[in-house]
Amino acid sequence: MYIENLVEIRDFPIFSDNKLVYLDSASTAQKPREVINGIKNVYESSNANVHRALYKLGSQSTEMFESARASIAQFINAASSKEIIFTSGTTESINLLAYTLGTQLEKNDEILISQMEHHANLVPWQLLAKRSEAKLKYLPLTKSGELDLSQPEKYFTQKTKIVSITHMSNVLGTINPIAKISKITKSIGAIFIVDGAQSVSHLPVNVQELGCDFLAFSGHKMLGPTGIGILWGNLEILESLPPFMAGGEMIETVSMESSTWNKVPYKFEAGTPNFVQAIGLGIAVEYLTNIGMKEVQDHEKKLTHYALSRLEKISGLYIHGTPEKRGGVISFNLNKIHPQDLAQFLNEDNICIRVGHHCAQPLLKMLGETSTARISFYVYNDSSDIDKLCKSIESTKKYF
Ligand code: PLP
Repeated sequence: MYIENLVEIRDFPIFSDNKLVYLDSASTAQKPREVINGIKNVYESSNANVHRALYKLGSQSTEMFESARASIAQFINAASSKEIIFTSGTTESINLLAYTLGTQLEKNDEILISQMEHHANLVPWQLLAKRSEAKLKYLPLTKSGELDLSQPEKYFTQKTKIVSITHMSNVLGTINPIAKISKITKSIGAIFIVDGAQSVSHLPVNVQELGCDFLAFSGHKMLGPTGIGILWGNLEILESLPPFMAGGEMIETVSMESSTWNKVPYKFEAGTPNFVQAIGLGIAVEYLTNIGMKEVQDHEKKLTHYALSRLEKISGLYIHGTPEKRGGVISFNLNKIHPQDLAQFLNEDNICIRVGHHCAQPLLKMLGETSTARISFYVYNDSSDIDKLCKSIESTKKYF
């Protein structure tokens, strides 16, 4: 059975030698020529600071920057592009929320996350809980690696003020029932944040259907540049929050005594924004829109199904998690072979996989591992990548 990739592989210069097997897109995605050239073009022909320069170049770059914001708003079906805040990535988006929402938290309030969170959606809440003397609670997982929502009253209480959950696990691939969690969260009047680092890049995401208040995601995981990401938020809530970072652009007036704030989203974009990367992200979003996010999701489903069926046949290989709804991320361990050794052997065959704790140490502890091997797919992968992986795993096993 052959599953073809979804793109013209020539679009991606990194694959030009035809040998690279890249199975680490959950970490960062490869970039199409459109994005690379788009960034180059800005630097070569329209580079000027945005929202400041009163000359033609400045209005060109501002228009491109704001048009990227509009494309991104449309991509996730935001009600307005005012709800799109440019950050450096998911990590900054969540830290922004932990800081600003944190100003409203009181002693003994509760923050609810889950045992499958990436450190980016865990450590900021740990710090906030310490600062505000709030309690950090964790939704447990079932054996299959899904959120255990069987006792909601135990975790979603009148004291819960913030719920922050990943849409898709970067270790198990589990896709969480966000709309359902949203309903439970709304019933107790808490704020609901979704970590979309692994979902926005791989499946259709519609914030109005999800029903959350905030969604955080990263450009580099969705064919876009590094150093740029998004915080989408409900406009009314964004307007009620204090600023995060302070400096130029986020102000309306400044006197020696005090300042007033610019409108949302600019209130949260202090300093010169990463506007070239934002424009690059806009191009990546157009590229994904042209493919179709449903097509992206279906393609990865097929690859995941095929990979699971092949990996399951390798003796001594243990796959972590059997969630019913899953995306293109698979973690596994191989009897007696440390993931690091496996990665080194695969590297000899030009196969890139991720090994380690995947910035999810509490989850790894629950799995009884300190390190796993992880493969993940994207639009440029085809089934031959999985065949090469399995062949290389078998030959690694022979060596040990
Ligand atoms: N959340 C999840 C689920 C992730 O997988 C990642 C990165 O792998 C992050 C957050 C952090 O993303 P970034 O490093 O781009 O800020």
